[in-house]
Amino acid sequence: MAKDYYQILGVEKGASEDEIKSAYRRLAKKYHPDLNKTEEAAAKFKEVNEAYEVLGDSKKRANYDQFGSAEGNPFGQGGAGGFGDFFGGGGGGFSDIFSDIFSAFGGGGGARVQERGQDINLEMNLTFEEACFGCEKEVTVGKIEKCSSCNGTGAKNGREFSTCPECRGTGRVRFTQNTMFGTTIREAGCPKCNATGKIIKEKCSDCGGKGTKRMSKTIKVKIPAGIDDGQTLRMRGEGNAPTREGQNGDLNIKMNVLPHKVLVRKGNDIYLDLYLPFTTTLLGGKIDIPTLKGNYTLSVPELTASGTVMRLKNKGVKALNRDYYGDMLVTIKAEVPKNLDKATKAKLEELASNLSENQYPKYTNFKKNTK
Ligand SMILES: [Zn+2]
Ligand SMILES: [Zn+2]
Repeated sequence: MAKDYYQILGVEKGASEDEIKSAYRRLAKKYHPDLNKTEEAAAKFKEVNEAYEVLGDSKKRANYDQFGSAEGNPFGQGGAGGFGDFFGGGGGGFSDIFSDIFSAFGGGGGARVQERGQDINLEMNLTFEEACFGCEKEVTVGKIEKCSSCNGTGAKNGREFSTCPECRGTGRVRFTQNTMFGTTIREAGCPKCNATGKIIKEKCSDCGGKGTKRMSKTIKVKIPAGIDDGQTLRMRGEGNAPTREGQNGDLNIKMNVLPHKVLVRKGNDIYLDLYLPFTTTLLGGKIDIPTLKGNYTLSVPELTASGTVMRLKNKGVKALNRDYYGDMLVTIKAEVPKNLDKATKAKLEELASNLSENQYPKYTNFKKNTK
């Protein structure tokens, strides 16, 4: 199901940053778990946060506007590593405003919605072609994973533990707190069992009772065709495991796309400055040029002015997540010879005298207007 983040926050598509921020503040307070104990409110709160995480960040918002919903993303779900959605750039407006709201409730910390492992951020180099066509790569990352010997419990064989008497195994304890909204019941992780609900009798020797281990893991990364320099692939759940129960963090890979020798990419279009001998621009000719779809023989017509742009339809880069290709734009540039010998110069002088000034309407117009 496609999520409309604008609808979730109740703002127009063209809403300003301030409008989005204040809509988020209003809804986050409305559904905050400190004031609402219903599951429905918790789900709303999560949804509102998710929407703000995207719309509150100009880069992520731009990507969302361009590529649509998270489900409409190029990576789908599952597959190699299960790609989540695709966000450009990093950015941290979210945590700022989030802590704002927590402090508005007097105290901060306390009832977190869910424990989550830390994200892993890294960069990857791609060749020009790899970015245009997509590819599969492997990265080896050092990451924190759930200990398999104890199944993340931290107890020997995953069995040597007992239920925490303090929280009766729930891992959560409740206490009352006075806030500006009156007395509220807050819930927090149980301090006795570190919110695990379990007291370890004998520690797992593999992880020393932590339940997690740092290890090196090689991950297959499927790069979608059309990804551009500076964009970030988010692989959901491929980050660090949390110390307690909860979701893994994400693996965020920022792409560094290396330049091509002659082609320049701007969005989905490819640009080429094609220098030709000035005689070819006058007489016309055929020339092989590189394109993303192999070599192409470009016909340059007779009397092509320097600066003329020739557009080759659909010979650009595939748009990310869409069945659409950009164009290739070839700018013809007349190159003059480095030097002239006497005989050539004489011929050019003869040529110049053969061509009357009215063959050059722009030039004569310029002269007329600057007299
Ligand atoms: Zn272990
Ligand atoms: Zn406990």
